Amino acid sequence: MVGGRWFDGMGSAGSIFWLQYAYAPPVFRKVAESVPPISLTQILPSQCLVCHAWPARPLCDECAARFRADVPRCDSCAEPISAGIIRCGACLTDPPPLDRCIAALSYEWPWWLYIRRFKFQHDLGLAATLSQLLLAAPGARDLLGRADCVLPIPSSAKRLEERGYNPALLIARAVAPNHCRMDVLERPVDHPPQRSLKRAERLHNVRGAFAINAKRASDLNGKRVVLVDDVMTTGATLHEAARVLRRAGAAAVAALVLARD
Ligand SMILES: [Zn+2]
Ligand SMILES: [Zn+2]
Repeated sequence: MVGGRWFDGMGSAGSIFWLQYAYAPPVFRKVAESVPPISLTQILPSQCLVCHAWPARPLCDECAARFRADVPRCDSCAEPISAGIIRCGACLTDPPPLDRCIAALSYEWPWWLYIRRFKFQHDLGLAATLSQLLLAAPGARDLLGRADCVLPIPSSAKRLEERGYNPALLIARAVAPNHCRMDVLERPVDHPPQRSLKRAERLHNVRGAFAINAKRASDLNGKRVVLVDDVMTTGATLHEAARVLRRAGAAAVAALVLARD
């Protein structure tokens, strides 16, 4: 397990950070979550995960240009739609609780490779690559520029203990270092991971998953909030979080996600 983590992460030199992080006692992990990750991938030579060019960043410029396409997407749910259309029929019929939803990528090759390594193989050095892809999504910088606070979708305490970090927090902090808050939205209940459920079960699974920190509730009054998550599938998780934030007084709630499945 120990060796596996080390070698699994060697594709990105940022995994050296994970070594320090993985063996730290919980109290130090909490401290580590409160400071920006050390992205050694920006300093040391690495290998492109797609074309295996070496030395390069984990995503070389050629592969980024080749695979990143600005797909027209629905403003409310980020599903691909025809160019020139703002909202899909489903969102016009039944508007979701998000004022805006932006997805940077489709959850397909090669992007799932990056996201899986980042989420499940502890390759924390990829946070820099993925956050740059998120910032390059049309409208992402504008949305962040207008936000009063940027909230990562929180992990439950149990999930945080298992994984050791919250991928959404690392991305949110990288794209909005001055507005990212991790003390507002909480996830007190540990539900099964959404990916383990059928689509119909996901909606029910996240009911009641989120709460607002009572000491911070007044911070949301009249504020424009941007939620950040890694992968959006049905939108059930983001929608549940948005409903909780609106009930707490947020004036507007939008979402920024790395990839739309
Ligand atoms: Zn490449
Ligand atoms: Zn839509």
